[in-house]
Amino acid sequence: MSSDVIVIGGGVAGLTTARELLRLGARVTVLERTCGVRGASWAGAGILSPLLPWHYAEPVTQLTQLSNSLFPGLIEALRRETGINPEYRASGMLVLPGSSGEGDGEQDVRNRAAEAWCARHASRMTRVRSHEIVPVLARDETALWLPEVCQVRNPRLLQALAKAIELSGGTIIEDAEVTRWKVERGRVQSITTSRGDKYSAANYVVTAGAWSRQLLGEYALKFDIWPVRGQILLFKAQPNLLSAIVLQERDNFYLVPRQDGHILAGSTLEETGFDRSTTAGARKALLAKACTLIPALAEETLAAHWAGLRPGSHDNIPVIDSHPVVTNLYLNSGHFRYGVTMAPASAHLLSNMILKKPQPLDVAPYQWPL
Ligand SMILES: Cc1cc2nc3c(=O)[nH]c(=O)nc-3n(C[C@H](O)[C@H](O)[C@H](O)COP(=O)(O)OP(=O)(O)OC[C@H]3O[C@@H](n4cnc5c(N)ncnc54)[C@H](O)[C@@H]3O)c2cc1C
Repeated sequence: MSSDVIVIGGGVAGLTTARELLRLGARVTVLERTCGVRGASWAGAGILSPLLPWHYAEPVTQLTQLSNSLFPGLIEALRRETGINPEYRASGMLVLPGSSGEGDGEQDVRNRAAEAWCARHASRMTRVRSHEIVPVLARDETALWLPEVCQVRNPRLLQALAKAIELSGGTIIEDAEVTRWKVERGRVQSITTSRGDKYSAANYVVTAGAWSRQLLGEYALKFDIWPVRGQILLFKAQPNLLSAIVLQERDNFYLVPRQDGHILAGSTLEETGFDRSTTAGARKALLAKACTLIPALAEETLAAHWAGLRPGSHDNIPVIDSHPVVTNLYLNSGHFRYGVTMAPASAHLLSNMILKKPQPLDVAPYQWPL
């Protein structure tokens, strides 16, 4: 099989990149180590915004805003092409106050800073009483309401992307862990999988999430990435118990309602290496936080508990760039907490780079570190 581009890693970064390259006319093969379930992208909550967007630097905001503009078209195309509904919708996000030890004055200063950021970035936000938006919350307090924040259902988004790739002539090969590179004369000549299969193409893109550095080995140079475990609970609740995303600023805890009544409660941030197991301690802590926010959740069914490994990066800024020395090697990785949020934009920038098309924004912040 002959490809213009081989994409290594079939999470959201890899699949959106493959889809965008196919859309622009390239022939693409995706190699994915596992079968079915795909890395952090499957495990995530699907909130399409940084949790407190005003806490992040412009490179994160730029990617988020570009993705926000690309998501509606992407979802519409995926639905049309595949018949799969990734449940993309603007459910809004309610941000509950920061520290409980803080006076009203300090909270007001923080709220004003958030409002100023939203005004600068044309992002709608109003101050509300929390019960106006979510009546089942235990406390009625002043909160920030961001009505435009969207969400997507991760497994369905991944299914739709995979199907769309195959329908448009791309190939996804599962159970194919890339283990070796053959680099000669400043170019990747071929790669080999753990099964001994060899693949070659004109260009290679690494989208291996938390494993990207390991995979690149000596070619990673100063690119840094590390696994950050996130555990999450899933309730099977009454439909309509909760209609908006609720974020508690104090401990970065959120509840995300799906349309059918499922509610995600997450998530932990743990540096425990490549260990993807779940723990009794996290389960207890997440359950307590969920039921403190919405006491009615104590009566609902706890349906699942899982963990994923985020691709941790400095300041949450990914690398979207070509390799400084190996000219046909590219990287789209390090999206840390917001890889689904930033996926369409990152895929667009990387595909433009490979196909030598103009960029819609300054890509300098996403350079491969030297
Ligand atoms: C609990 C949790 C909640 C989250 N919530 C959100 C959220 O609400 N919103 C948001 O935007 N983001 C969220 N995230 C973050 C988001 O999920 C990640 O940033 C994103 O999924 C990273 O995508 P990726 O494709 O880079 O990595 P992954 O999804 O991890 O995909 C990498 C893939 O590469 C494969 N791979 C690795 N090595 C090899 C190899 N050698 N050969 C072949 N394949 C290989 C892996 O098997 C994997 O499938 C959350 C993450 C977690 C864990």
